Parts: sequence; structure tokens; C-alpha cells
Amino acid sequence: MRRLLSYLALLLCLAAVPPAAAQAKLRVVATLADLWALTRAVAGDLLTVELATRLGQNPHDMEIRPSQTLLIKRADVLVRNGLEEDGWVDPIVEGAGNPKLLRGSPNVIAAVRGVQVLTAPAGAIDRSMGDVHPLGNPHYMLDPANAPIVTRNIVAGLARAAPELAGKLEANRQAFLEKLTAADRRWKALLAPYRGAKIVSFHDTWVYFYRAFDLVEAGIIEDRPGVPPSPQHLASLIRKMREEKIKVILVETWYPPDVPNLVARETGAKVLIVPQLPGAVRSTEDYIAHLDHLVNAVATALK
Ligand SMILES: [Zn+2]
Repeated sequence: MRRLLSYLALLLCLAAVPPAAAQAKLRVVATLADLWALTRAVAGDLLTVELATRLGQNPHDMEIRPSQTLLIKRADVLVRNGLEEDGWVDPIVEGAGNPKLLRGSPNVIAAVRGVQVLTAPAGAIDRSMGDVHPLGNPHYMLDPANAPIVTRNIVAGLARAAPELAGKLEANRQAFLEKLTAADRRWKALLAPYRGAKIVSFHDTWVYFYRAFDLVEAGIIEDRPGVPPSPQHLASLIRKMREEKIKVILVETWYPPDVPNLVARETGAKVLIVPQLPGAVRSTEDYIAHLDHLVNAVATALK
């Protein structure tokens, strides 16, 4: 009876917590769905985590919407890629008039810090090279080995804004990384039979993914990112694919499949349409579910 009473007392206490406590949660906005998924994994229900893009949207060409400005105006912390993949957020921050989220503010988390960046182009960059990312390939979250670094940056940044949550955020991070380690073992085992398999990409997206799973990029349809390929480039790629019997062309969900389909017809390869970011296909909003989907799709295509 005594136990029941103290239980009831506890329930009353919980009910008495004003709703303001829930509203006082820090608002975090991530620019891209991979960073959003990782931030949610460490934040749990401690913070409100929102995404500045729509799930499944190509973040390379973004038009600014009023809803994004509102989101950024109300946010306390911004998580961004750090390699200009999401440079479109800068005019939004300026337009929203939220000085907390300006570049260089302690409330802005550059997720890339400490990540080994691949394929930073050497020498001068100009627009004729296509919409290249001058600081290197920004798609680093396609290698799960980068998750410990990126989540460390995210937790450190969130803890700057909410020091009282530091311990809980780190505990969430450890729990997530433990699950990720188990998943990564599963992914590596699933792709192990295809070690060294050659794949052709549509866009220069997958270098981190290939490195993580010992796959080889045999060519890229877009010889310059964001620019349609020249006929000469396509002809030499098709020749190479025939000679090397390349079976798979990897294309992100948001690109038109016409050119990949043409290359596939000429070479007998198959076009594999896959999401580059979490949430582009149903039930993959979570980072591990996203990689699960991706790895399974690639393993099935290489079979
Ligand atoms: Zn890109």
C-alpha cells in the first residue's frame, strides 16, 4: 500500500511538471538528412531536432522556401556539413536574422572536423569544372567509420549550448556507436564476397562508401559533377565498361535515369537506384536503417 501511495505521488509530481519544460528544449536544425539522423541518434528526446531540407530532396540544388527561414529563425544550434554541400544555408541564416547561426558562432557545428576528406581537387577551381566542392568530397557519411568523429563533433557542439546535457548526450552517443559497430560487422560480411568489384557511379558521391566496403569506382558518368557528360566521355566509359565487364551503375534517387539507362543498354550493366541520404526511401530515416538499405541493395545487385 505504501509503495502504491509513493507511486501515485510520483505520478502526481510528473503530471505537475509544467509544459514549459518541454517547450524549453533546445531547437537544433541540421542541413542534411545524414546529419539530422546522427543528431537525432545522440539527442534522443533531450532536444528538438529538425531538418532544413525535405527527405529525398537533392541538396545540390536548393531553392529557398519561407518554411526554411522560419525554421532557422527559431533554431538555437545549426549542424552543417562543413564542406560547402549546404552553402545554401548561409543566405537563409542571413535572411532569418539569427546571429547565433552565423558561420563561426559556437552554436554552429561543422560536422566534418577531424574527418579525412577524400578527393579535394588540386590547384585552381572554376565553374567550368562543374559544381565541384572546392574543399573535397562532402559525402563522408557514406563511410560509417566517420560516425564516431562526426557524432563527437555534434555532441561537443550541443554540449556547448546545453552543458547540463553533456553526460546524457555522450551516453546516447555511446549506445548508438555500439549498435553501429554491430551493424558495420554485418555490412562488411555481406559485401565481403564482392571485394574489389568495379562499379560505375552517376555522380561523384560514393568514394567514401567504396573505400569502406572495398569496392572500386571504375568511372563516373558525370565527368564533371553537376554537368551533363560529353559524348566523348560517354563513349570511352562505355568501351571501358564492356572491356571490364562492369555490372552495376549506381545512381541516386534524385537524378533522372535517362543517361544511366542509355549506358546500361549499351553495356548490359544494370542501373541501381539508391538513396544517398537517410529517409529518401520509406523507413530509412535512421542512419543504420539507411546504410542497411544501401548495403543490401548493392550486395543484391552485385550477386
Ligand atoms: Zn555531390
